[in-house]
Amino acid sequence: MRHRVTLIPGDGIGPEVAQAARTVVDATGVLVEWDFQEAGAAVVRDEGTPLPDRVLDSVRRSRTALKGPITTPVGSGFRSVNVALRQELDLFAAVRPARHYPGLPSRHPGVDLVTIRENTEDLYRGIEFERGAPDTDRLRTALLHLAGYRVPDDAGVTVKPISITGTRRVVRYALEYAQRNGRRTVTVGHKANIMKFSDGVFLATALEVAKEYPEVDVREMQVDELAMWLAWEPETLDVLLLPNLYGDIVSDLSAGLVGGLGVAPGANLGWEYAVFEPVHGSAPDIAGRGVANPLAMILSAAMMLRHLSEREAAARVEAAVAELLRDGRSLTPDLGGRARTLEVAEAVARSLA
Ligand code: NAD
Repeated sequence: MRHRVTLIPGDGIGPEVAQAARTVVDATGVLVEWDFQEAGAAVVRDEGTPLPDRVLDSVRRSRTALKGPITTPVGSGFRSVNVALRQELDLFAAVRPARHYPGLPSRHPGVDLVTIRENTEDLYRGIEFERGAPDTDRLRTALLHLAGYRVPDDAGVTVKPISITGTRRVVRYALEYAQRNGRRTVTVGHKANIMKFSDGVFLATALEVAKEYPEVDVREMQVDELAMWLAWEPETLDVLLLPNLYGDIVSDLSAGLVGGLGVAPGANLGWEYAVFEPVHGSAPDIAGRGVANPLAMILSAAMMLRHLSEREAAARVEAAVAELLRDGRSLTPDLGGRARTLEVAEAVARSLA
């Protein structure tokens, strides 16, 4: 069977790691018809937007995409393409495994965490009021009337919505993920003691839905305490379920526990569409030099293969990556080696044969 997949190379190191991942997927023998779609800074000049409709249309047709990172210029007029994609396609759950592979430098061998992050709400919803803008003045007046709170007139404001509907679906996804993957504990991170009406909704909904899944041990933990346990004894944690912002931070932290961003894959999933992408960004500091670590993108592609029901090919890719890391000969500079991006991909591809 031939699978149709939208390939969004992205920018910065994106095209380098995308080519590497494609090399590996093609070497598995799984038949993939790639639909290339450029997005990000490179297309703004010609198309006026970093996320043209043709990209979304392609993902809607393929239902599955493999995506490299895309730069979000700080303070420019454009929203993050990454956030927009997740919202447009309603990709409400981000799944980010952080597993230690023998051979990787780490203070915590034995870590095998999965962060499941709500992907559409919270402070990333994009409800922003710019400092000094007329709408922000209206918001300040409304807040003074509604809450008696005087927002300083030199403040910008970001709004944090968290709904029962938005939370319920990601909680269900996390608990079903735990069941399907033989995971025992799901820790819900929150700050409901301070943000009673946003994190409070997240926590209460999670505990309510958890009653339907008595076989999964659901625990709650304030996110600051969770940060402490992640630094102290991350081996004791299993699946972490978090609202959007905490999930973003904690998944990078977890990547750091197991060898860094170069080996941290991810998936963004909704009812209809799935977009697989590494946790890392476009790494402008090393872009174009052929030294980016492609393993996070390759492992994201393995997650994609599993999603396409190509389980055997996915397992072979993961085993080949594990062998490469154990062997330690073809590693990029972030892991202490001297290999180039495509050499790593070719080494993985060779051991698939
Ligand atoms: P980053 O992840 O790009 O880089 C952080 C550090 O990790 C850098 O030193 C970089 O060189 C290193 N690094 C990242 N990936 C690597 C790899 N595969 N191999 C070796 N080293 C790697 O984070 P940043 O610098 O904060 O962000 C850069 C840009 O990427 C920003 O515009 C940001 O908005 C964007 N970003 C995009 C995504 C996405 O597309 N999903 C995710 C995160 C950040």
